[in-house]
Amino acid sequence: MLFLIEYETMKNINITRRSILKIAGFSTAAIALLPRMAFAARNSLRSVRTGVQPGNKTRLVIETALRPSYSLSYPAGQLIVTLPNTAANTSLSPKLASGTLAKSISQAQSGDQLQIIVDLRQSISNIPKSNIMILEPNGDNDYRLVLDFVAGQNASSSQNTTANTIAAATTSAKKYVIVIDAGHGGKDPGCIGKNGTKEKTVVLATAKKLKNKLDAAGFKTYMTRSDDTYLKLADRAEIAEKRKADLFLSLHANANPSRSMKGFSIYTLSEKASDEEAKKLAESENAADRIGVEGFSEFEANIRSALSSLQQHAVAEMSEEYANGCSRTFRNAKIEAQPGPGVRHAPFAVLRSAVPGALIELGHLSNASEEKLLASSSHQDKLVNAIVKSIKNYNFDV
Ligand SMILES: [Zn+2]
Repeated sequence: MLFLIEYETMKNINITRRSILKIAGFSTAAIALLPRMAFAARNSLRSVRTGVQPGNKTRLVIETALRPSYSLSYPAGQLIVTLPNTAANTSLSPKLASGTLAKSISQAQSGDQLQIIVDLRQSISNIPKSNIMILEPNGDNDYRLVLDFVAGQNASSSQNTTANTIAAATTSAKKYVIVIDAGHGGKDPGCIGKNGTKEKTVVLATAKKLKNKLDAAGFKTYMTRSDDTYLKLADRAEIAEKRKADLFLSLHANANPSRSMKGFSIYTLSEKASDEEAKKLAESENAADRIGVEGFSEFEANIRSALSSLQQHAVAEMSEEYANGCSRTFRNAKIEAQPGPGVRHAPFAVLRSAVPGALIELGHLSNASEEKLLASSSHQDKLVNAIVKSIKNYNFDV
């Protein structure tokens, strides 16, 4: 029975959030390489991919080792991106999503100048600056030049399209769905501070504040629990999938045998824990399900088999990108960090899904001063503001 119900769930999972998840098929690169000249380009091409964006926009992502400079030209039926001082990548297959304006993509090297030639199904007008971004490296990604474009008509109507596109982009936060998971609940208190502060209470209060702020910022949010109820880890993950979340955040507070240990830490899912402490933490957070009757192994098995390795990779990559940004935002907000790496990895059951996400340990309830902080509304606000900022900074689409 369990299998059938969850198979139904799996079918409904919509894994089309970002270009890498939108790949319908691979296209072999038509590489038009001129005889390679003796030169030493500083930059190099890493990857090229396309995706579909809301508003029927085609997104072209050109990933390079260093920050790219570029110029654009628009011969009939083509878009040419010229990258000076850049070496081609002859082993590269552009990843072309279906349903975009890009028919094929080739590279042409001339001296130390590389041209990315996109053959289009329809001509396009000049891409406005507002539809071009250069993204900093994060996670596994290097620099990315991102271009969004639509099929062009005449100049004036394409201006209108552009205006609409910009309007849509500025309100795009509305479209993104965030599922907020307050850890533990009900019969499972989570960890408990010396003064009796319970993890389940602190994280629920913080989660509610986060929901209010994100709603106000135009995101669509859902909570896995909004009161003091017990919920299995697999159910939490399933809510994220049913809601077709773009991001899943599980909020927790930590406890350490050493009462002097302080600070927040951020985790993403991996089969192998990044260190012994991360492993122990995952074991203790996963133990929440032992309080329940059923385990999550069947659910887990189905999820894993239904996700291709490419999708798993994409989810992991996006989670990592969010977690890195979140860690940076927390540090910038002067929230004390637990010593060690910015982002750690461990096999957390609650993160096992098709939704990118992270588990945030907001601080240590086992530390007396942090217990006081975590219980205070003003510190919860500080944490929430940092999380909201990290979500606003997160690029949902690349
Ligand atoms: Zn916890």
